[in-house]
Order: sequence, then structure tokens, then C-alpha cells
Amino acid sequence: QTTVETREFQAEVKKILDIVIHSLYTEREIFLRELISNSADALERYRHQSLTEQNGADPDLPLEIKIAVDKDAKTLTITDTGIGMDRGELEANLGTIAHSGTKTFLSQLAEGGKDVNLIGQFGVGFYAAFMVAGKVRVSSRSFRQEEPGHVWESDGAGSYTIAPASDLPRGTSIVLELKDDAEEFADPERIKRIIKQYSSFVPFPISLDAETVNTVQALWTKSKSEIKDEEYTEFYKFVGNAFDEPLLRLHFDTDAPLAIKALLFVPKENFEKYGLGRTEPGVNLYCQRVLIEQHSKTILPEWLRFLKGVIDSEDLPLNISRQALQDSSLVRKINTVVTKRFLKHLEETAKNDAPTYETFWRDFGYFLKEGIVSDFGHREGLGKLLRFESSTTEAGKMTSLTDYLGRMKEEQKDIYYIHGANREAIEAGPYIEAFRKRDLEVIYTMDPIDDFVMGHLAEFEGKKLVSADRGDIELPELAEEKDKPEQKEPEKELDKAEATDLAAWMKDVLGERVKEVKESKRLEGSPAMIVNPDAFMTSSMERIMRASGR
Ligand code: ADP
Ligand code: MG
Repeated sequence: QTTVETREFQAEVKKILDIVIHSLYTEREIFLRELISNSADALERYRHQSLTEQNGADPDLPLEIKIAVDKDAKTLTITDTGIGMDRGELEANLGTIAHSGTKTFLSQLAEGGKDVNLIGQFGVGFYAAFMVAGKVRVSSRSFRQEEPGHVWESDGAGSYTIAPASDLPRGTSIVLELKDDAEEFADPERIKRIIKQYSSFVPFPISLDAETVNTVQALWTKSKSEIKDEEYTEFYKFVGNAFDEPLLRLHFDTDAPLAIKALLFVPKENFEKYGLGRTEPGVNLYCQRVLIEQHSKTILPEWLRFLKGVIDSEDLPLNISRQALQDSSLVRKINTVVTKRFLKHLEETAKNDAPTYETFWRDFGYFLKEGIVSDFGHREGLGKLLRFESSTTEAGKMTSLTDYLGRMKEEQKDIYYIHGANREAIEAGPYIEAFRKRDLEVIYTMDPIDDFVMGHLAEFEGKKLVSADRGDIELPELAEEKDKPEQKEPEKELDKAEATDLAAWMKDVLGERVKEVKESKRLEGSPAMIVNPDAFMTSSMERIMRASGR
């Protein structure tokens, strides 16, 4: 069959192509980074595949990326010997978008609110080719021996064609017919500079007209003293598909209990905060420099999905399958070791570089809270990293639970916290009156999920975490109250019987809306307050449940 079929792009693809072709004129050179990174992914996948499965097509082809330019024809060609694509994959991968968050990214890109540099993070990097090319031709042959090759072609104007092709080697070759205003990308010197700038850590040789341009190296296997800061940053940009500098980095090497080399980065920006969908995990799993799993979902807990980098363990079997990875107790062990080490690194950062930790906490603290709620195993380490305002801190300043413990009164048994929309609301409310009077510190939780976090944490270094709106809190009696019971003059206090009558009358009026009305010693300036009958839910948790209709 030699027929050429024409197909429409999915609506989202049409939209991105429209933006890419008509409104992006700066930083166009990143298209090359995106295409090289796709080739590198395809080569990694082939390398891994060939370890687990024998008899792929063209087993003797070297794993490499070749780039060729033709100034006269105004073309740029990128060829890899990677895993390739069959017909269905060409259609699915180059004609549709599945990635969550892409739509939001698209609309922000259209409004000029986002950087085209981020295109790769949203699973649409391939389409960047249309920034410089009037026509893109992709010839590809899958590693599966029985699959024939195909040619996919498009000018980006709404549809593409696809046709069978014979005699293709394994892998993918992409020819860009450069637009008139993009001829610079047929200049070998320009291309060489772009590769050096963006793709120097690609772990396969990249050659330009037969000359190798990059130095292939696995940075995480070198010792720290041999690595310059700029190299780390470059590597971060490569693994994280990022354009900024990392906020934090952790490079470590251990032999016990397992042989692990890890190089992890916290990015500067938390994209989930911008409503751009859920961040995909960004750490790749290697065994002795061979990629086992890209963007692994199992090697670290889900709440560490904001990390970028590499974990390499020679204890892993090279030919482990996806399924086996998920079930592997070894993977679970690596997960625990690396997570603990990373939490320790955060603690050290908090101690040695408080401003950086504060920045981290403001942007990424929410992931740590998620960790407390979802991951029992690391609660203790995570508890030390929490930061809150409190009745002792200045507005806008934060304290750790550890520091709170250091300030606790001798007779104080528990750690107290109270939720409110903001500091003013909390301090104007009735709940902290009794604590203030007794000079007991109260933590202010102002994030709606904080009470769930405190509830899950339950205790810290042996001290219970108690919400200040609980009805059954026993506070030490005030010395002055014992001495001068008539202090509240000129208003006269109710006697026991009057108070009981008043409470009964209020219960009568409020009916089912309250469980009980009681006299209390906890009020100072306010006439009454609502407290919780039990330790199960705090008022703010109830508010959240009510708002969500449960
Ligand atoms: P992403 O790389 O984030 O998945 P892209 O738009 O860059 O998004 O690429 C889309 C998909 O097309 C890739 O996931 C991959 O499956 C496929 N693809 C692109 N280039 C190649 C290539 N050179 N070899 C094999 N598959 C490729
Ligand atoms: Mg890509």
C-alpha cells in the first residue's frame, strides 16, 4: 500500500500550531533543544528496550544523533537511531496532545503571559519546530522488526499526511524546510552554539556534519569537587527541561544500605501554584548510567514530584521491567533512603541558610504538607520542616515547631494552634483570649489545609497538637483569679444558679444547632464562643467539609 492519507490535527494541536506559527518570534532556537531532547528520549527508550527484549530492528546501529544542514536547500535534518514510531504512534504522538495543563499553558502563552521556553514541560515540544520551519517531514521506523517505516509531513496548517516508506533504518529523521526568516538555522556555526548552550548533557553523541559537538558525561557520577556551579546549572536545565536556575541542589553518594548516587534539584518556580495542572515527577532512575525509567513515579513519593534530577543505583537489575519496578522492594528502599536524605538536606538548609529555606517554604511548603497528610512514614522528618506564624512571632515571620517547644511553659502539656483567615481575624477572635492571658503561645494556621495537616501529624516530639477551639482543653488556673474573684467589677458575675439558667435558656433557643451550652473560664473579653465537643474535627475542618458539600 503506497497511498498517502491526509488527517486533521486534534483541535488543541491546531491551537498550539496557530500560536507557534503566528505569534512566537523570540527565542526560536529552543526548537532544536526540543527536537534533540526527543531524540535523546527515543535513544534512551531503545537502549532500555534492547536490554529487556532481543531482536529489535537494526541492532548494530550505534546510538547517536546526527544533525545536517544544507544552506542551499535551506534545510536542517535531525536523525536519531532511537526507538522510532510506527504508524499509530506517529498519529498519536504528533497529532494529538494528552498532557494535563497544556490547555492552561496554551491560553497563557496566547496572552503573552508565559515563556515559550516552557513549551517542553507541557509535552508539546515537537511543535516548536514550526516556529522555524514552513514544512516538517518526519521519517520513522519503529524498533519492532515487523513494522514498516512511514513518512509524516505537515506545514502546520491544520492537517498532516502520512504514507508508508520502505528501506528506512530504525529511528527517526526530521527534516525542517526552514522559513525565509529562519535561514540562520542552516548555518553550522549557529547550530553548534545552540547545541553547546542547551544540549551539552545529552548522554549520546551529537554530531554536526560528522563532527561530534557535545561531551557525553554523567555529571552525577563525578565527585562534587570536580564540578563547577555552572555545570550543575547546565545539567539542571537539561534534566529539568528548565530555563531558570535551581533554588536548591543536593548531590550525594552513599554505599550503605544501598549504592546510590543522586543529584536532585528544587526548581525556582512551582508551576502547580499557577494552576498549570499537576506537576509530573521529574526524577529519572538510572542503573550505572543507563536510564531505567524517565520521570519515575515510583522512585520518590508523589509529594516530591517537584524535584528534578537523577537517581542512579548499581544495585538495580538493568533489565527490570516497568511492572517489576513498581513492585520492587529495592525501589522502595531507595525511595526511603533518598527521601530521608532530602528532608535532612532541607533541615540543614533551614539551619544554615534561613532566607533560602523561607523562599522554599513559601513556594513548595504545600508539597511537604501533602506529604504529612498522605505519607505516614516521613511524618517526623516533615514535622520539623513546617513553618507557621504564632502569637509570639511578628506578623509575617514564622516559627518551627522545634522552636515552639523551646518556648513552652513548664506546666504546658500540649502544643496549641488555631485556624483563621488571617492574623487579625485570629487575634480578634475569642479562642486565644485565655491563652494570651496565661502567656501560652498559640500557632496560627492560616492555610485551609493546615488543620488536616495538624490532625494527621497529631503530635510532635511527644507533645500533642491541640486545636485551641476544643471544648475540653484544661488550662492552668490564673493566680489572680484565685486571689480576687470579684475582679470583673463593676459588672457583677452571675452566680452558679444564674449561670446554669442562662445556659439552659440558650440551649433552648439554639436547639439542635449546639450540643451543649456551658459556663467557661476561658473567656476574657468576649461574651461567648463556639468550641468543639471532641477532638475529631476542628471548626475550620467543619467549615471546609460544609463548603465542599459533605
Ligand atoms: P514530549 O517529548 O514531552 O512527550 P513532544 O511534543 O516533544 O512531547 O513529543 C511528543 C511525542 O512524540 C514524544 O513523547 C514521543 O513519543 C514522540 N516523538 C517525538 N520525537 C520523537 C523521536 N525522535 N523518536 C521517537 N519518538 C518521538
Ligand atoms: Mg519532547
